[in-house]
Amino acid sequence: MTTRTPVIITIDGPAGTGKSTVAHLLARRLGLEVLDTGAMYRAVSLIVIEEGLDPTDGPAVAAAVRRRDLHFDWTADPPRIMLEDRDVGERIRDMDVSGIVSIVAARSEVREVLVALQREIAARHPRLVTEGRDQGSAVFPDAPVRFFLDADAEVRAERRIAQLTESGRAVDAAGVLDDIERRDTLDTSRRDGPLIRPRGAITIDTGPLSIDLVVDLMERTVRREIAGFADPDAADETDADGDDAA
Ligand code: C5P
Repeated sequence: MTTRTPVIITIDGPAGTGKSTVAHLLARRLGLEVLDTGAMYRAVSLIVIEEGLDPTDGPAVAAAVRRRDLHFDWTADPPRIMLEDRDVGERIRDMDVSGIVSIVAARSEVREVLVALQREIAARHPRLVTEGRDQGSAVFPDAPVRFFLDADAEVRAERRIAQLTESGRAVDAAGVLDDIERRDTLDTSRRDGPLIRPRGAITIDTGPLSIDLVVDLMERTVRREIAGFADPDAADETDADGDDAA
């Protein structure tokens, strides 16, 4: 493998499992780029809010997305989510966006537009860690390593609260848990691209693990599974955990 050989690693899982954080860290360790597909669904939800659209009107929302210029600025690390020339990375974390994102994401017309965009992005950025809900199951089912991160809803809510507090936002703790549970229900029950554990994916319960341990585990797995990433030191290591990275 050369530094240009295409490689896609997918990370899926529900909200608050640490997907974004570990995706960035793993990408950095492996010299890959990173794609946050949740940010894309959130940016679409911001379009819905700003244009006063009905979040359940899939065709109207999809038409609006096609009209607008939703893209990433790849000169930044991590890449910045942009609507035209506006960086919306902060705005899309607000609760009004979180409140409708899973409703918007349930519409097949919307998913069709974003899945096409994700595949176009992967064609232009072929060495990619991509994270979301359907990346390993529907968008890139042939990715050589696919992860599924999970954790109890309470643990995930605590993490989200800590994140929001750290970023200086007002936090309604009960509201955060409700939001996570509501999104879990909507994301797992939709017909198109539901949140599922992709067949053959490596599941990691991030509840009891630190971020560093999760990333270590993932990095070791990638280096073991994909020849071009083999760690030169790994030849001396006894691989005690075999396939059992979960
Ligand atoms: O990852 P994040 O929590 O920011 O994602 C926000 C929402 O976007 C999810 O709750 C889900 O409804 C939707 N989403 C999706 N498919 C993806 C990524 C996110 O439906 N690949």
